Amino acid sequence: MEVCRICKNRTNEEAFLFLKNIPISSEAKNENFKSTVKDLRINRCIKCNYLFIDNQLNDTYYDDYLYTPQVSKDVKDYLNNFTSKVIKKFPINSTYKGLEIGSGEGSLCLAFKEKGIDFTGVEPSEHLSKESIKIGVKTFNSYFGDGLISELNSDYDFIVIRHVLEHIDDFENFFLNILKVSKDSTKLIIEVPYLGNILKEKQYYGFFFEHLSYFSIESLSILLNKYGFYINDYEFANPEGGSILIYTSKKKNDKLLIDTFNENDFNDFKGDFTSFKSKFLEFILKFKHPVIYGAGQRSLTLISMLNLSNKEILCIFDENTNFDGLYTPEGKIKIINASNMENFVNKNKVDAIFIFASSYDKEIYSKYLSNQNIMYSIIPNIEKTSFKYKGINNE
Ligand SMILES: [Zn+2]
Repeated sequence: MEVCRICKNRTNEEAFLFLKNIPISSEAKNENFKSTVKDLRINRCIKCNYLFIDNQLNDTYYDDYLYTPQVSKDVKDYLNNFTSKVIKKFPINSTYKGLEIGSGEGSLCLAFKEKGIDFTGVEPSEHLSKESIKIGVKTFNSYFGDGLISELNSDYDFIVIRHVLEHIDDFENFFLNILKVSKDSTKLIIEVPYLGNILKEKQYYGFFFEHLSYFSIESLSILLNKYGFYINDYEFANPEGGSILIYTSKKKNDKLLIDTFNENDFNDFKGDFTSFKSKFLEFILKFKHPVIYGAGQRSLTLISMLNLSNKEILCIFDENTNFDGLYTPEGKIKIINASNMENFVNKNKVDAIFIFASSYDKEIYSKYLSNQNIMYSIIPNIEKTSFKYKGINNE
């Protein structure tokens, strides 16, 4: 029996899904890094429409975090568009102050700053904080916890929390601290991976130890209401395999909140799990010299779920320079900067590229693949997967 992080009720269900031998860290590491694997038990609270796992990470896990998706053009465009949407949605003036919790290397704060709004970042990773300070963003290198609150203002107009909430274990402490830095008119803008995409697209690799929560609109609403915030609006967004972006404030409203999935989707998801691995492996191992694009968490989780190693996969490409020369924690597949792709492909007779970073497939295609004679496949979902050649389907 597990206790729901939102409603605190014990769930009487057996595990919703039980994934064996998942590495604790889904980050790229040095070649000599010794990976620890554990079984991942995913629980479900029916009352909250919420999936969750127990926290197995230690308190300092994010101190030397490297993962930031904010390097590609797609991501920068997304963040620019994000700031424009927020500014359009709420009448913002230049006296407004914003706070981003989990601000990574500062791109979003900078995008707001460039539009005349003062934004401060909070980021636990030392490396990412330094990058953020370098580009001129006021950044606290800290977790968003009791120790930091006295150093922050108590009246931010906007608090942005993108792809952070799913990493939080203690919601009570987190939201009580949010209340300490907000006022009655504060808008809270939250983006998290959406459970509907995970279920509908059969993203078994969407579950990993860093993500403690898998949110529906319903569960987000129940959680936020506890602390006096209400969802005023929401939209679906592209990042991280499919996300939900919610706009909340302390103003009650009767916005209709509708999730895009139902009980059948939970059943289908569970039902197809056993055949997923063999289908995927059969698909990938048809090739002699395959490579993968994308060294993010979903990608690394999928690689270890499939037990892929440097014996089957020549390398992984990614354009995030933080990953250059590092390896997958399991299977020790080397990560090479995507700028070297053309050379590598020709030299090593690469015969297929599997794009695991499916949210960015269009950008990856136009930047790296459009002028190469190579088969590639975008991996969102094994049922939908096909091969393409020069942008054309090649079944
Ligand atoms: Zn619950």
